[in-house]
Amino acid sequence: MPSSWKSEPEEITFLVGERHQYRDSDVMARLLTLEKGAVTVVARAVRRSRRRFPAGLEPYAVYSGTIVRGRGGWELSEALLIREFFSISGKLDLVSTAACGVWVTSVLLQDEEPEPRLVKLLEGYLDFCSRGHLLPAAYFYAAMKVAGFPPALRSCMECGASPPVPGWFYSPRYGGVRCPSHSRGEGVMLTEEDLRWFASSKEEEPRREILMAMLETVEHLVHRKAPCSGLL
Ligand SMILES: [Zn+2]
Repeated sequence: MPSSWKSEPEEITFLVGERHQYRDSDVMARLLTLEKGAVTVVARAVRRSRRRFPAGLEPYAVYSGTIVRGRGGWELSEALLIREFFSISGKLDLVSTAACGVWVTSVLLQDEEPEPRLVKLLEGYLDFCSRGHLLPAAYFYAAMKVAGFPPALRSCMECGASPPVPGWFYSPRYGGVRCPSHSRGEGVMLTEEDLRWFASSKEEEPRREILMAMLETVEHLVHRKAPCSGLL
């Protein structure tokens, strides 16, 4: 294969996950695409090329773009803005909540394994954030479900017994509730309010402890600490 070998260009629709600037204005980014799951790309001269990157490559926006695979990996050759969630960037609470949503999707979406529902879910979540609705726990729950790791909230994940019983715990490590005989006191002790939230359609936020415990479950799933956990 000659070093100049390149694949046929492919059209993608994506949001930007993690991104790192390097050299002058080159960017390495993990794109959350509808078509191919997560794709790590290099984008050259992002800041300099108004023609290829008229809107740059920012978080909290949806782009369409073209990727080409060379010997060194994927290159993003251009990106056009489709939709931007303007109001997120201006407010710290919106930014931290949105950033956490992007992180959760970014780690749950597999490399080059399409799961468009996860990307669509993130788009919907950012839309919600941009309108000032902060529902991270509902989003974590939905994203874990789509990714195939739904937290077990209805009954003890070990024996199948059903709440409500005093002394039940949610275990962040195992991603589910456990009865008094199986929890051994590990996790967050559940209140009546938590059980109501578990059984609800999750249109309101649970207690902060439950939100953090669900984020911790995602961290256990991917063996990584969320950079946003201190901000929520
Ligand atoms: Zn049990």
